[in-house]
Amino acid sequence: MDINLSTKAKITWCPGCPNNAILVAFREAVMELMNAGSLKLENIVACSGIGCHGKITDYLNVNTFTSLHGRLIPAMTGMKTANPALTVVGFSGDGDSYDEGLDHLVHAARRNSDINIFIHDNQVFALTTGQATPTSPKGFKGRSTPTGTIEEPFNPLLLMLSAGATFVARSYAPEIAKTKEIMKAAIAHKGFSFVDIIQPCITFFDTRDYYGKRIYWLDEKFPTNDVATATEKAREYGDKIPSGIFYSIEKPAFEEQLLALK
Ligand code: SF4
Repeated sequence: MDINLSTKAKITWCPGCPNNAILVAFREAVMELMNAGSLKLENIVACSGIGCHGKITDYLNVNTFTSLHGRLIPAMTGMKTANPALTVVGFSGDGDSYDEGLDHLVHAARRNSDINIFIHDNQVFALTTGQATPTSPKGFKGRSTPTGTIEEPFNPLLLMLSAGATFVARSYAPEIAKTKEIMKAAIAHKGFSFVDIIQPCITFFDTRDYYGKRIYWLDEKFPTNDVATATEKAREYGDKIPSGIFYSIEKPAFEEQLLALK
């Protein structure tokens, strides 16, 4: 099968932006899942929020939905409930879902909603030209924090593990093949799939050198079904930063339980 998942929309991300790598990884993941017979093009819905990442739905020749800022997850849960045959994939940003829409992210994880969320985590509000987000490191200097932010960032993987997410992963956008495989596993997982994709913003917060030296990939002991083991590994965030699928368990999904109610 050779389907063109591109659109005629002009790509307006900065040249070289790793958002392009996430786009390529997703197109390849979809193609491979379709060729394997495990995904139908008409059943895919790609959703996005507001931010640089949000343009991705313009560049994908699948069903798409662009939400209000931080509000893509309620729309995704509604879609999945109304039509359980859909494969609902959400692209969001650290500003979009760790700041504005954090409550929706936590509750979708808690409910085990059968949706997939891929976070373009560039640790900066990039579309608005460089303000701190909840994953910006302490001391980050931007338009809203010219002398450096005094706030500590949070670790989104630890948050999702404690909230009850049943699939928790991290990827690094420049590693397209790794991101593609993680996306395929996330889509195949029944339940809430969360992937934090570190995506350096080469214009407002270029972290390629920082992460390029630190990212390493989890070994065959992962994913684990033991939340304590996954949590311990996710706490590792310093000279070395683990990436891959940390945690995966099977559990009834929110939508199937809801639709089974009499
Ligand atoms: Fe990418 Fe940053 Fe440019 Fe946005 S501002 S398109 S995140 S490089």
